[in-house]
Amino acid sequence: MTDDLFELTAAQAAERIRGGDLSAAELFSSYRDRAASERLGAFLWVAEEPPEGGEGPLAGVPLAVKDLFCVEGIPSAAASRILEGYRPPYTATAVERLLDAGASVLGKTNMDEFAMGSSNENSGFGPVRNPWDETRVPGGSSGGSAAAVAAGLAPWAIGTDTGGSIRQPAALCGIVGMKPTYGAVSRYGMIAFASSLDQAGPLTRDVTDCALLLSHMVGRDPCDSTSTGLPEEIRLPSAERLDGLRFGVPPELTGHGVEPGVRAVFDSTVERIEGLGGVVEEVALPHAGHAIAAYYVIAPAEASANLARYDGVRYGPRSPGNGDLLSLYEETREQGFGAEVKRRIMLGTYALSAGFYDAYYGRAQRVRTKIADDFRAAFERVDLIVTPTSPTVAFALGERTDDPLAMYLSDALTVPMPLAGLPAISIPTGMSEGLPVGFQIAGPAFSENRILDAAYAVERAVGFDGAPPRG
Ligand code: GLN
Repeated sequence: MTDDLFELTAAQAAERIRGGDLSAAELFSSYRDRAASERLGAFLWVAEEPPEGGEGPLAGVPLAVKDLFCVEGIPSAAASRILEGYRPPYTATAVERLLDAGASVLGKTNMDEFAMGSSNENSGFGPVRNPWDETRVPGGSSGGSAAAVAAGLAPWAIGTDTGGSIRQPAALCGIVGMKPTYGAVSRYGMIAFASSLDQAGPLTRDVTDCALLLSHMVGRDPCDSTSTGLPEEIRLPSAERLDGLRFGVPPELTGHGVEPGVRAVFDSTVERIEGLGGVVEEVALPHAGHAIAAYYVIAPAEASANLARYDGVRYGPRSPGNGDLLSLYEETREQGFGAEVKRRIMLGTYALSAGFYDAYYGRAQRVRTKIADDFRAAFERVDLIVTPTSPTVAFALGERTDDPLAMYLSDALTVPMPLAGLPAISIPTGMSEGLPVGFQIAGPAFSENRILDAAYAVERAVGFDGAPPRG
């Protein structure tokens, strides 16, 4: 296998396999060898054998899967020691659909434990390094998926986004990542973090792959009562111009805290949009500045309920305690959860406790409604909203680990969309300090095709062809 086969996008690889000039087994084992010997910490588990030849439009294309998707018989631990060794008896619907389309699981990717984090440093199994600069973080929580795709260890990957965990690592690693509308993809079989926010989506090398992968993930699922699917099929994007499309730039998400180098790339991308015929205007999201505060009440509240099930009895390892049930629970949870997970459980339990419920959780939910209302009003004036994806480029490993608030602010520009259930994509559109910068395009609920078309046109016009040093 020559090196340039690793340069093929997933769509190109699928086409060659279908046309008979690339063998699925060879493609799989080539990626497998790379994934099994990588040094970024991107994979937690890699398949031994190429699977039996699947059929379908994605036949033979290996897929990297974030560790929080349950895959039958394959270790699935959400990068938590409390689930170490757990092999689920069933497969997440999103993964099942991709397998049905012919994809094969290459491996499980590292992540922040239970998807709580923005740097992948909260994994119970060690951090992931950014392939552009191994002293820096890849972003999180889908850091393993993003690093694997950026480093050419996998053609594409899936991740999940609760407050930014697909888009932010995609931005920091210079690839494409999309969070769909809440409900577009089934959450069945995803190890839950915050159920009203969690949503699965693609991390890919380009926008076409993103559309292709997403098209095989979406759909209503009787096993997830909050899943809706999409009202129309995901199409492969083809737009070259943006004539007449209205783009809103919210000052609340483009000014304060955004590094100058990131802002410069954002501004030049906005100019490209104008050059393609798009109409750009300012649009207000007056409550977006409160999104982080609301998110860090709502997400931990939901997490504290979702993580109650890890007690040493039902899944994963068990610590014996002193021989009674309560100490078994306590010791298992004390030893099994990492520091950030414990912090979130405490925050969430506190926010939901009698006497404080309305002051914190109720209030945060009211802010959430305001944020959704802001977007609704904005989308009466514009078709899409654009912002930088992350206020900064990839930061150094260790830089924010002692300062949870600084870490939480990494998602200031991505958290408002999931609070409102809205879809958004991040695409790489430039470099700052030698590192990639992501551009975020968000739209109204179910506007995935519009977002993908706009992202495709911008991707073509910008021609970002940066790739990290491979090896
Ligand atoms: N960084 C955010 C958090 O720590 C978002 C994580 C996510 O989207 N899963 O909660």
